[in-house]
Amino acid sequence: MLKWIIRIAAALAVFVIAGGWWLFAGFSKAPAKAPPGLLDIDQWRNMIREADGDLPTEVRVLEVGHDSAPMLAARAGAFTGQWLTSYNSVQIVFPGSTLVIGGALDRPTSEGMVQAPDDWSFDDAAYRTLVDSMLRADKVLMTHEHLDHVMAIARHPDADALAPRLWLNAPQAAALPQFATGELPAALRDLPPRLNGTVQLVAPGVVAIPMAGHTPGAQLLFITLQNGHEYLMIGDTVWSMSSIEDLTMRPVFTQFIVFDPNEDRDAIRTQIRAVHDLMQANPQLTVFPSHDRIWLGKLSADGLISWGFAD
Ligand SMILES: [Zn+2]
Ligand SMILES: [Zn+2]
Repeated sequence: MLKWIIRIAAALAVFVIAGGWWLFAGFSKAPAKAPPGLLDIDQWRNMIREADGDLPTEVRVLEVGHDSAPMLAARAGAFTGQWLTSYNSVQIVFPGSTLVIGGALDRPTSEGMVQAPDDWSFDDAAYRTLVDSMLRADKVLMTHEHLDHVMAIARHPDADALAPRLWLNAPQAAALPQFATGELPAALRDLPPRLNGTVQLVAPGVVAIPMAGHTPGAQLLFITLQNGHEYLMIGDTVWSMSSIEDLTMRPVFTQFIVFDPNEDRDAIRTQIRAVHDLMQANPQLTVFPSHDRIWLGKLSADGLISWGFAD
């Protein structure tokens, strides 16, 4: 009898350990190689070189809120450490004009996503600045169609003024109704997608690179400033830059508690490899994800981004 109890307990322990490994650690490593050309920086550079117009002069980040969570949420197998989470929008500043990337989240959305009450905050003035800045921008884009990246677009108080500035791809435009409070304003309904789903120059020095995986409409943005410095915005491909360094994506667990529909994990793992290798080959390139507050702070300290939007 005792033998059977021990056997059943051992089987249960194996089951629990295997399940825990699957949920929090397994199936999250990037492959040894990404397909050649997945991130074709020469193509982006050529598109920028061949275009006319003044290149941008700076990249600015407006933080509307922040929070923290265990690093395990952002990187499989990271059983220690905190992930300091920034919620923000990016402004590309040109001589005489601007472009805004990302609608961040509004207060009700932020209050519904609190992870660590002591680290959480939401900046109403910053959100008002974001909403106003969109109406002064030549173009408004987003990295992807998730609730913490769209709200100043889907819930903008002046949809009629915003709509002509919106440059979305088809999956991003199609997703807007689910983020509206009530019915999506007519101006944002059936918005013609201005991004065509291919690698596309959206402004002098700015290239949109479709990168389905985290969401169907996810895209990267490659930016070259007048001073020659290059940036790659990778949105939510990873939540923490340590995922690129460790070649490890979010754990399977996050699929069940965060994403609906699930992200394409194979695509993300491959994209992590591609970004990692691109950084190795181009050490001067500044890569940044949306939500890594420590990384953004480092870029600001190094003078590569500035906090807050320009007027
Ligand atoms: Zn996000
Ligand atoms: Zn996302």
